[in-house]
Amino acid sequence: MSKPFDIGLERLIGQPSYSGVIRDAEAGQRGTFFLETFGCQMNDHDSEKVAGVLLSRGYRQVETPETAGLILYNTCSIREKAAQKVFSRLGEYRAKQSEGKIIGVLGCVAQQEGEEIFERAPWVSLVCGSASYRKLPEMIAQLEAGNQRVTGLDTDTEETFETEMTRRDDPWRAYLTIIEGCDKACSYCVVPYTRGPERSRPSDSILREVRKLAEHGYSEVQLLGQTVNSYADPTPRKLRFSELLLAVADVPGIRRVRFTTSHPSDFTRDIVEAIESQPKICDHVHLPVQSGSTTVLQAMQRTYTRAEYLEKIAMIRDAKRPIDITTDIIVGFPGETEADFEETLSLLEEVKYDSLFSFKYSPRPNTPSLAMKDAIAEEEKSRRLAILMEKQREIQTARNASLIGKTFEVLVSGKSRRENQWSGYTTSHRVVNFASQAKELLGTYVQVRATGATPNSLVGEHIV
Ligand code: SF4
Repeated sequence: MSKPFDIGLERLIGQPSYSGVIRDAEAGQRGTFFLETFGCQMNDHDSEKVAGVLLSRGYRQVETPETAGLILYNTCSIREKAAQKVFSRLGEYRAKQSEGKIIGVLGCVAQQEGEEIFERAPWVSLVCGSASYRKLPEMIAQLEAGNQRVTGLDTDTEETFETEMTRRDDPWRAYLTIIEGCDKACSYCVVPYTRGPERSRPSDSILREVRKLAEHGYSEVQLLGQTVNSYADPTPRKLRFSELLLAVADVPGIRRVRFTTSHPSDFTRDIVEAIESQPKICDHVHLPVQSGSTTVLQAMQRTYTRAEYLEKIAMIRDAKRPIDITTDIIVGFPGETEADFEETLSLLEEVKYDSLFSFKYSPRPNTPSLAMKDAIAEEEKSRRLAILMEKQREIQTARNASLIGKTFEVLVSGKSRRENQWSGYTTSHRVVNFASQAKELLGTYVQVRATGATPNSLVGEHIV
């Protein structure tokens, strides 16, 4: 989804930014870029950083490919559908190259397909994986100097992608990548291949950025990583992940600290204790299980059994402060029997997740599961997915109904076209739509009493 350019650069760096490139942009179409993003929050945040790098060098972001000199796609290849979407979108921009525009592919598909993108879409001139984004301005300069094709596909960099400036899409919540890449080796996953080995960002640099964000008015930060809780501080302080959460929460002006995605094997008691002891650390853990069957988990190389996963759940449920739990599930992994699938359904029954993301397995290039036998037919995957979603719907309906009458703190992030209707998120990341007579609430924290529930959200009223 493309993002509107909704935050002034001035707000981020405290001063206007002008350059010769902007003047060029005003004269013609050079120096303007359009950036579209597919995929996860990591990709969204990478796009914020790419935009920051380009803006700080004087490029101007525009909202349509038609008005851009540079069209960039930040892509996702975790699911086959997302990768296909990128190529179909690239097809739509075939004619743009002859108008003198530069078309570039960034992110996971870029890393995965590499130079083959030039074969499939010869009108593309830039292919750059996420570990090489720092080099983007140089790469673009090479293209502007007349080079036909440039690539940035290293994943062996020790660095994480830090920028002097990040252009942020959300005016209240700031994303912050604290760990990049992944050292796990789940058999279905492209991430270790596309994003390279795990690299943690130094804690002093993270805290410096959080302080800057707080000064600019951000009150909620979300720490990101494919396995965020595997964080290993490379500085002499050697902060544990739980200590980092507490240090971020201590920054004046910060009211909420979120983190995602946690890997069950690295989810330790001290993280629960940090949530218990510091109310600013949000009462929500996203803990992907992927399957309820130990046999399937082993085939997926997930490094835990069903029983071990359930021990982690019990540890979280035992917390002194209630913590919401959400998850990811893949149905139809090669060899998943009906009995395995039943185990996933029984896991749902046992854990009673607050929400889940569910997917049909799709084989991805460069992954071990690609060669696995016993593929499940598409119709069967669809059938299992529908059953799973229906079961979860029942669980969520009951869970949300049990919250009617309770009061929540909501960060207001949306205003409906309908008069006096607002929406926002609770600390546990539950969506609340509520009525209020207040004139302006966006970006504020309010108390809302739940008066109704749907499977995916709460309905409420503002308590003044
Ligand atoms: S933990 Fe597994 S699924 Fe998650 S990014 Fe790493 S390899 Fe992929």
